[in-house]
Amino acid sequence: MIILKTRREIEIMKKAGRLVAESHELVRKHIKPGVTTKELDRLVEDFLRSRNAIPTFKGYNGFPFAICASVNDEVVHGFPSERELKEGDIISVDIGATFEGYVGDSAKTYLVGEVDEEKKHLVEATRQSFYEGIKFAKTTYRLSDISHAIQTYAESQGLSVVRDYVGHGVGKKMHESPQVPNFGKPGKGPRLQEGMVLAIEPMINAGVYNVRVLENNWTVVTVDGKPSAHYEHTVAITDGEPELLTVV
Ligand code: MG
Ligand code: MG
Repeated sequence: MIILKTRREIEIMKKAGRLVAESHELVRKHIKPGVTTKELDRLVEDFLRSRNAIPTFKGYNGFPFAICASVNDEVVHGFPSERELKEGDIISVDIGATFEGYVGDSAKTYLVGEVDEEKKHLVEATRQSFYEGIKFAKTTYRLSDISHAIQTYAESQGLSVVRDYVGHGVGKKMHESPQVPNFGKPGKGPRLQEGMVLAIEPMINAGVYNVRVLENNWTVVTVDGKPSAHYEHTVAITDGEPELLTVV
C-alpha cells in the first residue's frame, strides 16, 4: 500500500530533507585526497545529532554506520573505514536523516581531485538520468515512466542500469511501497498521485549492470570492477512539478 502524505507531512519531510542536504554540503567541503571515509561518517553523524536528527541508516537492519560510502567499483552500502580517498577516486555518499518522525534520503557521487573522463562522464550522466526521470514525476504519468526515462538516458550514454537495487517510497519509514526501479517499460505500475513521496535513485555502472555483495553482507560492487555512480533525492509528487525535498 502506498501511503500518501498530507501537505503538513511533506513540510516536515522537507525539514528532514534539508538536514540531509546540509550534510551533503559538509561532505562536499571535506572531500579531498587523504580524507578517510570514516571521518566523513563521523562528520555527518555529529552534524545530524547536533540538529536533533537521527542518522536513519545507523542500526537499520544492523547497518553499522551513519552514511554509506561507496568508492569506485562499490555501488551502494559501502562501509566507512580507515581507507583514505585518493586523487582520481569517485565516492558515492548516501545519507538518511529522521527528523520529527519523518525520513529524508539522498545520495550523491563526488569526484576526488582530478578524475579521468570515464568516471566524470559516469557521474554527470548518472545525475542527469535522475533529472530525465523526474520529468515524468507528475500525476499525468505512471510510475514506470520514470524508470523508463532513467534507463533510456543512461543507456544512450553507453552506461548500464543496476537491476538488483531500486528506489522506494519514503515517509515515516525509509523504505515504503512502491519500489521504484531505474529500468523497465513505460506505462506500467500505479498512476502517480499528489502526496506520493519517492526516493528516486539511479545506480549506474560504467561496465555491465551485474553486481555482487561482499563478505560483509552489505557492500555491493560491480562484477567487472568498473566504476559505479549513484544519485538520489527524495521527491514529492504534487499537482504540478515534482518537489525535491532533500535540498537546502
Ligand atoms: Mg539513499
Ligand atoms: Mg534510498
